[in-house]
Amino acid sequence: MNVLGIDLGATNTKMVILRDDDSVETLDAFETLGEDGAEAVVARLVGVVEQLVAQHDIGAVGMGTPGLFEPDTGVVIIFTNLPGQWVGFPLLDRLRAGLDVPVTLINDARAFTLAEGTLGAAKGSAVMAGLTLGTGIGGGLLINGQLFHGATGSAGEIAHQTVDPGGLVCGCGNQGCAEAAARAETLIAKTDRQTVEDVYAGYAAGDPACVAAVEDAAASLGRALGNVITVFGPDTIVIGGGPASKGGEAVLEPIRRATFSNVTLVPHESVRIVRAELGSEAGAIGAALAARSAQVLD
Ligand SMILES: [Zn+2]
Repeated sequence: MNVLGIDLGATNTKMVILRDDDSVETLDAFETLGEDGAEAVVARLVGVVEQLVAQHDIGAVGMGTPGLFEPDTGVVIIFTNLPGQWVGFPLLDRLRAGLDVPVTLINDARAFTLAEGTLGAAKGSAVMAGLTLGTGIGGGLLINGQLFHGATGSAGEIAHQTVDPGGLVCGCGNQGCAEAAARAETLIAKTDRQTVEDVYAGYAAGDPACVAAVEDAAASLGRALGNVITVFGPDTIVIGGGPASKGGEAVLEPIRRATFSNVTLVPHESVRIVRAELGSEAGAIGAALAARSAQVLD
């Protein structure tokens, strides 16, 4: 069965076709145009997907979205980074009403984690965690090859652990989350740089403000990831997102160092902290994998 994977992003919506042999075909992305509002975005999406379903003999569709939704109904609970009124929007119902094939929704960072754990940097891993750096910081946990969703469907938010009780207020409403300390906006605000990639370049070049900003962010992420290692004992942690894919070791090294400084009960050599391998299509690939396994389970 060919499965269409979609990654609904703030700027662009990316799509791939996943075939039975796990080969992936990347399709042209299109502009999300979130400012048009939820109804218009979904109507446009359904129009594009309807054509692709017919053209490519698609048997199921998976879509990764930012934020959280009710696991059974697909009603949006929190939607980050897209303008307009999304909270309360029946996203899954709207997609199912417009399409003749089964549709599965998944959080975009959980989709990233599933893809990297199944076909990417942690392929074959028994227990792995995924972290995506960017505007926000997404996370996910894969246990015995299966995503761990928890009782409410929202588990895996690694970066929303409180790591700095007196720290910045996070977009989620909590004070002191790792995301608040390590998101792109926070790093940029501590330096004279315009983008988070520039902050990491400044770190690699030894610029004092950039070094301080990156070390602060790494300290917070390291507390969160150290907790994950102590609680779940992963063999691999995969870090992705724009800064990680462009910055390489300049991004990973301080995070790795901070993480292991918080781990005493798990042998450090048992955990690899590595860069993602699937590139910017990981979210769409993971959404397709989620849709494929939902069909197997049905
Ligand atoms: Zn938070």
